[in-house]
Amino acid sequence: VSAVTAYVCDLAFVAGATDAGGVLAADVVVEVEEGRFTRVEVGGEVPPGAEHLRGLVLPGLADAHSHAFHRALRGRTHGGRGTFWSWREVMYDVAGRLTPDTYLPLARAAFAESVLAGTTTIGEFHYLHHQPDGSPYADPNELGHTLVQAAREAGVRLALLDTCYLTGGFDRSLEGVQRRFGDGDASAWADRVEALRQAYAVADDLVVGAAAHSVRAVPAEQLPVVAGWARSHEAPLHAHLSEQPAENADCLAAHGRTPTELLEEAGALGQRTTAVHATHLTSEDIAALGASGTTACLCPTTERDLADGIGPARELLDAGALLSLGSDSRAIVAPFEEARAAELHLRLRTLERGNLTVPELTAALTTDGHRSLGFADAGRLAVGARADLVAVQLDSIRTAGIDAADAIAGVIFAAGAADVTDVVVDGRPVVRDGEHHLGDVGRLLDEAIAAVHEEG
Ligand SMILES: [Zn+2]
Repeated sequence: VSAVTAYVCDLAFVAGATDAGGVLAADVVVEVEEGRFTRVEVGGEVPPGAEHLRGLVLPGLADAHSHAFHRALRGRTHGGRGTFWSWREVMYDVAGRLTPDTYLPLARAAFAESVLAGTTTIGEFHYLHHQPDGSPYADPNELGHTLVQAAREAGVRLALLDTCYLTGGFDRSLEGVQRRFGDGDASAWADRVEALRQAYAVADDLVVGAAAHSVRAVPAEQLPVVAGWARSHEAPLHAHLSEQPAENADCLAAHGRTPTELLEEAGALGQRTTAVHATHLTSEDIAALGASGTTACLCPTTERDLADGIGPARELLDAGALLSLGSDSRAIVAPFEEARAAELHLRLRTLERGNLTVPELTAALTTDGHRSLGFADAGRLAVGARADLVAVQLDSIRTAGIDAADAIAGVIFAAGAADVTDVVVDGRPVVRDGEHHLGDVGRLLDEAIAAVHEEG
């Protein structure tokens, strides 16, 4: 007989009858068994021993695009001028230094920071596969296993999006640290990822998915191999897409096509595909992404940090695409800030408010974000769904005064990561009263980042 855990929530966002949206309800009783909700009832009888969750209780949040090791760059790249491309040089310096021994504590602490902010699933875009000289580790998936261990110890579900990265640009071979990313060709990548998939075939907390780093990094004729592997396993497929105008210009020069057109020709668009950034698109690109039901993962705090631009989120939704949100470079880790930034950036461009609705932003944070990572059974407070709970304080310095009747909008537009008090993932309490089960995550980050920069 497995234990039943019960919670009573002052205020919770309960899933609606259909997959779309939900309703805000008071005094919600929740029961959990074997990591799933077995009861979600508004105003029902409270079982003895039920835990009380104050504030606003949300379902789990998905960080649909993460690079854990970029956490070691925070506070080291923001001053002065420079571009995406000069930022990338600093990022490559860190990528060149990492070892399994330094990557584990860094990723574990970075993932713990995410859980403290309300994230219950991370989509880790994993391309740092090999040793610094490009040769494989004894187990070619050594660093993939490191990320799985890090996520498990941090108490978060993982979509490990193993990334095919073969070239350093159109018709350019990998150079320097990029050699750590490469598998030679897409079929060698697929063989390695297949071994990774089989290693976790029975895992319930993990999805092994595929990624093509970008059309810069995977030659056009090899894209179908990556897309085919994902399709044959019904796995998520992610790709960076049109983050910078230079990528579009180079792609047009090399192929006479936009990056979106190349992905479409490769059979890489569709309902299991996520285009990360999708910032600089033509109207034909938007139509193709929408018609195929592709998800666009916006990473607004990174996109503004790297001067990428503001993508056409409204047009994508109207065309039929879905939205998700990602921390990407981890310049900050704050899911509510990602959501509000998606809307606030559009306000600055359009001179109008309400470009993206609160239900659309909520779906991106919860259901659609989870679906884009292969966890369609998460992100909803409903019987049968994965038992994730995220409690957000409504009486903090930032959130005091939020109208309970409009608490979701209030939280999205005003709350910070520090307002998350409790996080339950698959029925397991990972954060209680603002404390992660690993302890002082600030200290863990500090030590892990110092170790990376001392190396070499
Ligand atoms: Zn990225």
